[in-house]
Amino acid sequence: MELSDNVKNKLSALSDDYSNQLPDRYNEVYTTYRLARISSSAEEVNTLRLVLHKLAGSGATFGYSELSNQAKKLVHFLDHFLRRNELPGKEEWDSFESLFLTLKQICLPENVLDEIEELEEIEEEERKIDAVVSKDKKERKVINYITCGNSVIPDLAEQLGYYGYTVIQVKSVGDITLSLEKGNCEILLLHTNILKENESEAVDLKYVKEKFKDRISIIFISDSGDFSLRMAAIRNGADAFFVTPVDMGRLVGKIDNLAAQVNDPPYHILIIDDDPEQIAYYALVLQQAGMITSVATDPKKVLQILVEAKPEIIIIDLYMPTCTGIELAAIIRQQEAFVNIPIIYFSVETDIEKQLEAYKYGGADGFISKPIKPEHLLSIIRTKAERNRSLRFLMERDSLTGLLNHSNLKENLSLEILRAKRIKSSLCFAMIDVDHFKNVNDTYGHPVGDRVLKSLARLLQDRLRRTDIIGRYGGEEFGVILLNTDGGNAIKVMNEVRENFSRIKHKSDGADFFVTFSCGIASFPGRNSAEELNLLADKALYESKESGRNKTTLIT
Ligand code: GH3
Ligand code: MG
Ligand code: MG
Repeated sequence: MELSDNVKNKLSALSDDYSNQLPDRYNEVYTTYRLARISSSAEEVNTLRLVLHKLAGSGATFGYSELSNQAKKLVHFLDHFLRRNELPGKEEWDSFESLFLTLKQICLPENVLDEIEELEEIEEEERKIDAVVSKDKKERKVINYITCGNSVIPDLAEQLGYYGYTVIQVKSVGDITLSLEKGNCEILLLHTNILKENESEAVDLKYVKEKFKDRISIIFISDSGDFSLRMAAIRNGADAFFVTPVDMGRLVGKIDNLAAQVNDPPYHILIIDDDPEQIAYYALVLQQAGMITSVATDPKKVLQILVEAKPEIIIIDLYMPTCTGIELAAIIRQQEAFVNIPIIYFSVETDIEKQLEAYKYGGADGFISKPIKPEHLLSIIRTKAERNRSLRFLMERDSLTGLLNHSNLKENLSLEILRAKRIKSSLCFAMIDVDHFKNVNDTYGHPVGDRVLKSLARLLQDRLRRTDIIGRYGGEEFGVILLNTDGGNAIKVMNEVRENFSRIKHKSDGADFFVTFSCGIASFPGRNSAEELNLLADKALYESKESGRNKTTLIT
């Protein structure tokens, strides 16, 4: 399948004069924004989101990656609200508007000089906003809970709440069908007693499960693990079955899995080619398949893009006027952080000699012969990207918790300190050590200890921002890099996590117990290296232990 003529024409028409159209595009976005703000209507906000989304896509296609990134930021901003069926308030709109300045700077370059000062203030503002976006801005997921007679799980809502879930009591499965019909996904938790006591409910369950298959997950709780009860649950659409007393850690793990639904972020591909037409074509093909693209026509810009955009795969043209693809690949591979990114070359099919050379000197991971059909391009890129993700996961992650492993956490800390120095922002490094963990193992056994560690990992992932970097430092120790965060905010955030963790009820053979951790934080700037920050955080952690444990200490 070739791209249809229609798409081709559209593409070349767009590429002809994209930069000339930028002022108009900016005006369109700005007008849509004013309308959305004044009207306070979800529909208008959705339109605004669409216009920005389009701008992000076209910006990327035509090499305006900064424009595209800014537009994406604005889209994310709106998504926070749209996802929760809310609209931004006045202050939030003000912050939104201030982010606009960067768009304006790119689209209306003549105004740049006047606004540089203003822009600097806004960047400062932006960082503040970012630092405050903690768990409250994350979407809280809902669990529907049908209670039945007196078979109610005590403090279910409270315990699931620590993991970021909101439990809503519903009377019957009928209460959530409207939401399912709208296309939402729902999780339903109910007791097997209902099957006995309420036959119509059982019929409804079966019907709903058949009709909405992948959009409803049903979890049964039962007082006994009898075969007949398990069978009844399966026949009524069960996705999971738990026997009381329910182990919250396991229940949360199951719910996490069921809620995850193909939530993998899209693949991010960098395309380097001196021909903007070619780039636009390939970028469009990849974008139509839902991937994100960054593009570069100038090899000199590539290192910068690698740091900022963090692509997962690089496609390089073998022939470029300023340097060859192989030379560029060698420059990329000189940096340790980029040694593992797969590089695929565009080449002409007949050029076997050149291809061999690329394998030998250019770390080639594959070739794409020009011209290539869109579906072949997609298949090559998808396979590579998938493999690369699973390999990276295995290499970088700890197998018990799925968090970054020790060496990767440290690598990230060094990189983030460099970045923070460059953009003059702050960051904090927090070290966590579980209190008296040896006792947990000795009393309840190693497997139960493992579950406690998993629940802490899960809590950290839920409570911290997506941008924060979380790793397992080793054993029962964890490390967290809090970006754009000063000491004061870091201690607030970590204390909140600490208190949440101390309230989680762990279970072992029916016996409940609680676990705490101690935390030490060191802040940047004020130190020179990752090692120094690490040592100070360790020292702070030691102070927390010395002064009685279940504490957070900050060294500024
Ligand atoms: P403190 O409050 O001083 O930190 O006391 P502690 O008992 O937590 O410290 P200690 O360093 O003496 O013991 C840590 C224990 O953690 C010992 C080790 O067996 C256990 N541990 C380390 N890794 C794992 C793991 O992966 N799973 C389990 N279950 N236990 C682990
Ligand atoms: Mg320890
Ligand atoms: Mg310990």
